[in-house]
Amino acid sequence: MCIRDEREETPWPVIQEAAKVGIYSLDFYAQQYFDPTGLGIPMAMEELFWGDAGIALSIVGTGLAAVGVLANGTEEQIGTWIPQMYGDANDVKVAAFCSSEPDAGSDVASMRTRAVYDEAKDEWVINGTKTWATNGGIANVHVVVAVVDPELGSKGHASFIIPPGTPGCSQGQKFKKHGIRASHTAEVILDNVRVPGSCLLGGKEKLDERLARAREKAKQGGERVKNAAMATFEASRPAVGAMAVGTARAAYEVALEYATTREQFGRPIIDNQGVAFQLADMRTQIDAARLLVWRASWMAVNGKPFTAAEGSMSKLFASETAKKVTAQAIQILGGNGYTREYPVERMHRDAAIYTIFEGTSEIQRLVIARTLSGMPIR
Ligand SMILES: Cc1cc2nc3c(=O)[nH]c(=O)nc-3n(C[C@H](O)[C@H](O)[C@H](O)COP(=O)(O)OP(=O)(O)OC[C@H]3O[C@@H](n4cnc5c(N)ncnc54)[C@H](O)[C@@H]3O)c2cc1C
Repeated sequence: MCIRDEREETPWPVIQEAAKVGIYSLDFYAQQYFDPTGLGIPMAMEELFWGDAGIALSIVGTGLAAVGVLANGTEEQIGTWIPQMYGDANDVKVAAFCSSEPDAGSDVASMRTRAVYDEAKDEWVINGTKTWATNGGIANVHVVVAVVDPELGSKGHASFIIPPGTPGCSQGQKFKKHGIRASHTAEVILDNVRVPGSCLLGGKEKLDERLARAREKAKQGGERVKNAAMATFEASRPAVGAMAVGTARAAYEVALEYATTREQFGRPIIDNQGVAFQLADMRTQIDAARLLVWRASWMAVNGKPFTAAEGSMSKLFASETAKKVTAQAIQILGGNGYTREYPVERMHRDAAIYTIFEGTSEIQRLVIARTLSGMPIR
C-alpha cells in the first residue's frame, strides 16, 4: 500500500530527494537533449513510473511547464523562469502548465481564458478558469495558455508566465482522483491577473508577426497550416508512452512473480497455459510498446519528420497496453490483485490516466489517421 496514494498528498520529501540526486532539475533534461540516441528520457521515465506513477508525476510534472517555456520563450525568459520552476535542493518548487479548461479539453480551440493587452501600462490582463492542471495552485510559476485573438481559433493563443505570488491567480478545487493520487491536480482561477509585458512567452513582436501571418492565411481561405505545436506534441508524447511502459512493466513483474509462487491444484498457477499465455502476451506488448517509444524518441532528437505521427502512435499503443496489462495482472493475482495489499490494484488505477492526458487515445487515432491520409478526418 502506498501512503501517498492513500492520503492523496504531494510527496515533497521525495521531490527534494530527486533534486539532491539531480533528477529533479533542468540540467537533467538539458543533458539528455544532447544525447543522440534520445533514449535517456524514456528510460528515466520508465524507471520512475515503474515505482509509483503518482509520485513520479510529482517529480516530472514541472517538466511540462518547463518545456512550454523552452519551446516558446526567449533566452532571457528561459534563464529567468526555469530556475524558479525547480527551486533548489534545499527549497524545491514546482511549476504548472495550464491549458485545459472545463469546456476545452480535446477541443483546445474552444478555450475561453482571455488575455488583453493594456498598452498604457505594458501589461497583460488575464481572466479565465483552467482545470486539471498538474501542480495547479501549488506551483511557484504557472504557464498559462490564453486567447489573444478569438477570431483565429487555436492560432490566436499565446502562453504567459504567471510569476510567483501574482494577485488574482489562485487554486480552485483540488480533484480527488481515481489514480496517480500523489500527484496534485487542481483548477486554477485567473481573476484580473495582471502580468508585465515581459511575461508573454516569445515577446510581443513575435506574437504580432505570428498573428499577422495567421490572419493572412485565414483570408486566403483557411489553407491548412502545419502547426508547430503538433510537431512539439509528436516529440513529447513518447515520454508519456514511456511512463505507461513503466507502469505496465511493474504490473507484469508482480504478476510473473506471483504466478510462479502461487499454487492451486497442487502446482504453480503459471503451469497452466491459461495463465502463462497471458504473461507471454503481456511481455510481448510491453516490449513492442517500448520499441515504439524508443523509435519516436530517437526520431525527435534527430529531427526526423513524423510522417506517420510516430510520436502519437507510441503514446497510443503504450497507454492502451498499460491499461490492458494492469487489468490482466489483477486477474492473475485473483482476489489478492483486487486488494490494496498488492500494488497491481493501484497500478491499474494509475494506468487509466495514460489514455486520457496529453491527448486521449481517440485524439491520438485522429492525429495518426489525419497524418496518414492528409484528410481532415473528424
Ligand atoms: C490527472 C490529470 C492531469 C492533467 N494534467 C494537465 C495539465 O497539467 N495541464 C493541462 O492543461 N491539462 C491537463 N490535463 C487535462 C487533459 O489533458 C484532458 O483531460 C484531456 O486532454 C481530455 O480532455 P477532457 O478531459 O476535457 O475530455 P474531452 O475532450 O471532453 O473528451 C471526452 C471523451 O470524448 C472523446 N472525444 C473528444 N473529441 C473527440 C473526437 N473529435 N473524436 C473522437 N473522440 C473524441 C475523448 O477521446 C474522450 O474519450 C490533465 C488531466 C488529468 C485527468
